[in-house]
Amino acid sequence: FPEIFAALDYGIPGRAKKNNLISVNPIDLREFSDNEYRRVDDRPFGGGHGMVMMYAPLKKAVSSINNPSKIIYLSPQGGVITQDKLKEAASSSEYKNITFIAGRYEGIDERFIENEIDEEWSIGDYILSGGELAAMVIIDAITRLLEGALGDAQSADDDSFSHGLLDYPHYTRPEIIDNLKVPEILLSGNHKKIAEWRLKQSLKQTFLKRPDLIHKKKLTPKEEALLTEFISIPP
Ligand code: SAM
Repeated sequence: FPEIFAALDYGIPGRAKKNNLISVNPIDLREFSDNEYRRVDDRPFGGGHGMVMMYAPLKKAVSSINNPSKIIYLSPQGGVITQDKLKEAASSSEYKNITFIAGRYEGIDERFIENEIDEEWSIGDYILSGGELAAMVIIDAITRLLEGALGDAQSADDDSFSHGLLDYPHYTRPEIIDNLKVPEILLSGNHKKIAEWRLKQSLKQTFLKRPDLIHKKKLTPKEEALLTEFISIPP
């Protein structure tokens, strides 16, 4: 369903498209069908429920693409995509011209996966009705990592997962609302102290919400000290 990709006309991917930082070219598989009804799916051999997307239209569609680099099948059976993998994709020429295959129904003919697919990528351990949304999730996430995609005021560097930690908490005006105050340090103008406070908060959020990430990350001595400080303060 190529129309779905219109959602990428908004926000950061929309701006990146306008500035020619990315281009997204959805292909309607039905244009490559031999069938007079433009069908691209058929019943599964061996019986059972659902339909399977046919090999031939997929092959023709892929062959129509100029200079594809990686051909990636969006699939719940693929490796779950991480920020590190997306960083690799955003910075490597190997991924400059990605072709995403978005399945529908029960998925695609296994022979196409064996013959044509370089990698299978999943966006999580759950089942979507189609691969288009998964492709858009990935396109959006890669776009933020391209130089020039984010405005000056934004940075992908501080985002959660960028350094193996979750992001620190954010606050905006007013200073007090519903008797809730902004942490004093953020009003101090002391950039060094603010940076240290933010790092400590990142460590705290990660320790509390995603301890698995703390276990995976090699903490610097400074991070180790800040985390110990947080843990050792009695509640
Ligand atoms: N029968 C398939 C299975 O269990 O592995 C699921 C098919 S699913 C209903 C239809 C299509 O949605 C898939 O071919 C794939 O392209 C896409 N899809 C579903 N879940 C996904 C996920 N977690 N990540 C990426 N793509 C997904």
